[in-house]
Amino acid sequence: MSIVKAYGASSSQSPIEPLNIQRRDLRPNDVQVEILYCGICHSDIHTARGEWAGTVYPVVPGHEIVGKVKAIGPTVTQFTVGQIVGVGVMVDSCRTCKNCKSNHEQYCEEGMTGTYNAPERDGSGMLTMGGYAAEIVTDENYVLRIKGEENLAGIAPLLCAGITTYSPLRFAGVKAGMKVAVVGLGGLGHMAVKFAVAFGAEVTVISTSASKVQEASKLGAHHFILAKDPAVLNDHASSFDIVLDAISADHDYTQYLNLLALNGKLLVVGLPEHQPKVSPFALIKNRRSIIGSMIGSIKETQEMLDFCHEHSIFAAIETIAISQINEAYERMIKGDIKYRFVIDMSTI
Ligand code: NAP
Ligand code: ZN
Ligand code: ZN
Repeated sequence: MSIVKAYGASSSQSPIEPLNIQRRDLRPNDVQVEILYCGICHSDIHTARGEWAGTVYPVVPGHEIVGKVKAIGPTVTQFTVGQIVGVGVMVDSCRTCKNCKSNHEQYCEEGMTGTYNAPERDGSGMLTMGGYAAEIVTDENYVLRIKGEENLAGIAPLLCAGITTYSPLRFAGVKAGMKVAVVGLGGLGHMAVKFAVAFGAEVTVISTSASKVQEASKLGAHHFILAKDPAVLNDHASSFDIVLDAISADHDYTQYLNLLALNGKLLVVGLPEHQPKVSPFALIKNRRSIIGSMIGSIKETQEMLDFCHEHSIFAAIETIAISQINEAYERMIKGDIKYRFVIDMSTI
């Protein structure tokens, strides 16, 4: 075991504060990573503040990790010391169930092992601890290759915000000629815009923030609907093939279902604290469907990272020192960030 500097929450009421955590000794297949950057996902806030059931304290959030390999176990074949790598939302799964074997390990029948707040699969009773830390130790099969060393801070959010939007847009077959709306222009939403544009779709942002009108076009969006008052959405009924919902706060799905044209799909990735109601009448009209999606597999995450490298796609970020993290949480809740905070981990 080694003792590593980290930041985490000791209770749902406490701020994110310095603490020391233990990282396991390297197993034969493990990679030890010095963390350079870690993005701040809204899931970190939901978990740290106990908004979802099941947070065990202390919790060290962070699952958008880019770092440098510091050491490798004796049987590691895919990584070498000094290489730049990524660790995302998942660090293990059962590896034997139908879903794991078909490269859908994020849907492991036993439940995937999250990068933080999940019991380790070795039966030790230890909980995984995330990327607000100086180092992490991860099995090489759950580590990603990063090509190039340009803008590593802008790559970190791809490990969650990127794959969580890339995967459902690919699953829904988004391509040229399709009309896609992205609701909630935060960390996930802004990546959804970049991907939908890259796939050739006509993209509309639906946002509650007037301050984002100008910048949305810089992301490549073709249209912007300011929907502080949801009544404005009535003018856009039955007009989109796909609506991707990346809203972090409680809201009504029906108003977004109503936007879908024939066979339209509502792709749900946002995970608010309370479950919304859905009108079956809105669902049967136009044969609409609702599709949920959880991150992406390791294989698809690698495909997404390679796609971003090829197309020069990075997250739009604001880099912060780790001491600014509580302020960053408050600003995220207010929607005062374009579009992702990334912690420079050299400040730990
Ligand atoms: P974020 O950066 O905080 O963005 C959330 C956006 O939601 C805000 O920018 C805002 O967009 C919109 N919003 C906030 N409050 C709203 C309200 N009351 N009504 C309408 N819109 C509101 O969050 P994120 O990191 O992108 O995460 C988004 C959600 O996805 C979170 O719930 C997170 O836990 C979840 N998530 C899911 C997965 C998955 O695997 N499915 C993975 C990662 C995260 P506007 O300013 O444009 O209105
Ligand atoms: Zn996340
Ligand atoms: Zn499995």
